[in-house]
Amino acid sequence: MSSLLDQAVDGVQALQPYAPGKPLDELEREFGIRQAVKLASNENPLGPSARVQQILREQVGQLGRYPDGNGFALKAALSAHLQVPADCLTLGNGSNDVLELVARAFLNPDRSAVFSAHAFAVYPLVTRAAGARARQVPAHDGSNGPRYGHDLAAMLAAIEADTRVVFIANPNNPTGTWAPAAELRGFLEQVPAHVVVVIDEAYFEYVDAADYPNALTWIDAFPNLLVTRTFSKAYGLAGLRVGYGVSQPELAGILNRVRQPFNVNSLAQAAAAAALQDADHLQRGVEINRQGMRQLEQGLSGLGLVFIPSAGNFISVDTGRDAGEVYTALLR
Ligand SMILES: *Cc1c(COP(=O)(O)O)cnc(C)c1O
Repeated sequence: MSSLLDQAVDGVQALQPYAPGKPLDELEREFGIRQAVKLASNENPLGPSARVQQILREQVGQLGRYPDGNGFALKAALSAHLQVPADCLTLGNGSNDVLELVARAFLNPDRSAVFSAHAFAVYPLVTRAAGARARQVPAHDGSNGPRYGHDLAAMLAAIEADTRVVFIANPNNPTGTWAPAAELRGFLEQVPAHVVVVIDEAYFEYVDAADYPNALTWIDAFPNLLVTRTFSKAYGLAGLRVGYGVSQPELAGILNRVRQPFNVNSLAQAAAAAALQDADHLQRGVEINRQGMRQLEQGLSGLGLVFIPSAGNFISVDTGRDAGEVYTALLR
C-alpha cells in the first residue's frame, strides 16, 4: 500500500507531530469548569504589560502592510538592551524559528546534530526534519553532575566528523537543569570550530543561580556560538511568536540567507521592542515565579515527591505513577 507519507523524506516519516495542550476554552467546555489555569507550556501568567497592550492597539491599523523584513527598530532596541551590535542579531518567529534556521543552514542527511536526552523537544524535531542524524547523548545519572542534566563531556565525545550542530538548553526544558559557567565555557573551548553550538537561553531572565553563565559574554570569543532567547516566557508574549539569536555577524548572515523575508510579524516586533522597556513588569513576573517555585517545592516535598531542582519557571516531578494517568487526573 502506498501513501503520501511514504513519499515524505525519511526524517519526516520518523517524526510524530508535536502534541500541544488543548486550548483553554475547549478544556473548560469539556470539563464544565471556569477560570482554568494552564501551566503546560511555561508561559508567564501575567502576559503582556498594559503598555505593551496599548502599543498593540495602536499598531492594528498598520496591518495592511508587510512587517519590516529586517526588524530595524526591534534590532536597535535589542542592540541597546543587550549591548551587542545589531548585525549580531537574528530575529525569529519565536526562538524555535531560529533553531530551525540553524538546522536548515547546517544540517542535511549526511550530517548529524548532538543534543542531550530529556532536552527540549524541538531539537530532535528540527534535526530529523532536515533529514539529519540525531545523536542523543544520555543525561547525567547523578554520579558526576546533576541527575538529568546535560552531560557536556559525553556530548563533546559524541561529536563526530559529520556533526555540524550541538544544541544545549540552559536551563533545559523540561528538566530545569543548567550547565554551570566554567563547565560550559570549557566545553565551548573544546568544540571544533566548524561545529555550531546553540545555547538556548529561553529562561535566562528567570535564573538566579550564582554559577549560571550569561553566554552573550562569550560571543566575541566563539564565531561558532549562537545564543537564543525569547519573548515567549518571562516577557509574556508567547502568542505573538518572537525570539532572537545572538552570534557574530558571519553566523547571523548565514541564518539570514535561509530566513523567510517577513518571518516576524509587525505586532510582534512592536510589542517586543516595547516590552524591553518594561523592566518593572519583567521583574514582577520573575518575582512571582520565584514565590511560585518555592511554593511548589515546599508542597511537593510535603507530599514526599521527588523533583528536579529547576532554574526555570517549571518543575519536573517524579509522581511515582504512570504519567498519562496523572496527567488525566490532574486535568479533571
Ligand atoms: C519555550 C522554549 C523556547 C521558546 O520557544 P519560542 O519559539 O521562542 O516560543 C525555546 N527553548 C526552550 C528550551 C523552551 O522551553
